[in-house]
Amino acid sequence: MFILKGIDQLNNAITKAKKIRPRVEFDRFGRYRVSGSKGYYTVICKRSDNGYKTVECACKGAEKGLVCYHAAAALSLHIGLARRQQTA
Ligand SMILES: [Zn+2]
Repeated sequence: MFILKGIDQLNNAITKAKKIRPRVEFDRFGRYRVSGSKGYYTVICKRSDNGYKTVECACKGAEKGLVCYHAAAALSLHIGLARRQQTA
């Protein structure tokens, strides 16, 4: 799990996601399944009670607090959906 502080944090992971192009499946708003080397990982994007945006991924890297490309791929979909919700 990591706290999303800014988009700069995601740069490396986004670059990797663009190269690998994982498949992102929508489960429900804030919950996605992203394809990885060992099957699908569940990524959960949410806003905690204290206002932080947190991202959880089931992969090993994210367990150590790293920003993985699964999270970056899911976030790009999540941010787009969140914007659409705000304008709806
Ligand atoms: Zn991951």
